Amino acid sequence: EKTPLTLLGLGTMGTALARAWLAAGHPLTVWNRTAARAEPLAADGATVAATAAEAVAAGGLVVVCLLDDASVAEALTDADLTGKDLVDLTTGTPDQARDRAAWAQARGARFLDGGIMAVPPMIGAPGSGAYVFYSGSRALFDAHRDTLAVPARTEYVGEDPRLAALHDVALLSAMYGMFAGVAHAFALVREEDVALKDFASLLAGWLTAMTASVHGTADHLRSGDYTTGVASNLAMQVAGTATLLCTAEEQGVSPELLTPYLDLMKRRLADGHGDEDTTGVIDLLGHRTDRA
Ligand code: NDP
Repeated sequence: EKTPLTLLGLGTMGTALARAWLAAGHPLTVWNRTAARAEPLAADGATVAATAAEAVAAGGLVVVCLLDDASVAEALTDADLTGKDLVDLTTGTPDQARDRAAWAQARGARFLDGGIMAVPPMIGAPGSGAYVFYSGSRALFDAHRDTLAVPARTEYVGEDPRLAALHDVALLSAMYGMFAGVAHAFALVREEDVALKDFASLLAGWLTAMTASVHGTADHLRSGDYTTGVASNLAMQVAGTATLLCTAEEQGVSPELLTPYLDLMKRRLADGHGDEDTTGVIDLLGHRTDRA
């Protein structure tokens, strides 16, 4: 009585998804461009389809997890999507998700886009923290939420199909900002008499404590007043950047990961916003202009 489903794409992530659904007892039809990658799953009970079109024909719920959006278009060219529920877990941009949703709907399918916030070993592992952002057809999500929750927790973020990819990319972008700061910090200390293991613990603790600031940023953006509850104002912070840059120079470390952000803080201060914290930097970054 577990919902049967079809999965296209047996890369590292697709294989992890397949194993999770098989382990939970879902009848699973799989297809992969390179057929050999399906063999281990066949041994575990999956039905292997010879073509993507045949795999799609086998089930009502069709999940795709391929390299990129172009490979999704290519793989599904000959498939009849009439009456299907298509869930696209391939990473892409928000506009690609919007266009793929329109494309799927024009072919008679309901469409849900997903953004996977996990690496393959976290899939199907309760307590790993893995989850998937979903956006698009609420009806599809509600019909299949139990099946979708098998590989990872679900986080539905709205009917606009762009929203899952947007959340995914926003979180990843923030992560790279953090990685940049971590790289600079290690560059400063690596050749000193500093126990790197202990330093890593201090760094992790500091970053964790600082994440609370995102709630204040959200409050500022919602109210439009960037000056309430400011503990460290921009004028003070910009004055402190001299110490950051001088220390980098003393240590022989390039400031190139730091300067783009510090320069934006200085611009905001120069615009007369010394009584804010750093929320105003967001206003300097721009936004898409095709909104009604
Ligand atoms: P892999 O590189 O391991 O697998 C890519 C898959 O795409 C393979 O099944 C490959 O088939 C298939 N493929 C590529 N091009 C085409 C094409 N033109 N037509 C048909 N099939 C094609 O990637 P992953 O499994 O790791 O990732 C899959 C998706 O999941 C990506 O969008 C990725 O961003 C996303 N993801 C991955 C994470 C990870 O940590 N791995 C984390 C979060 C998201 P073949 O075997 O024939 O080459």
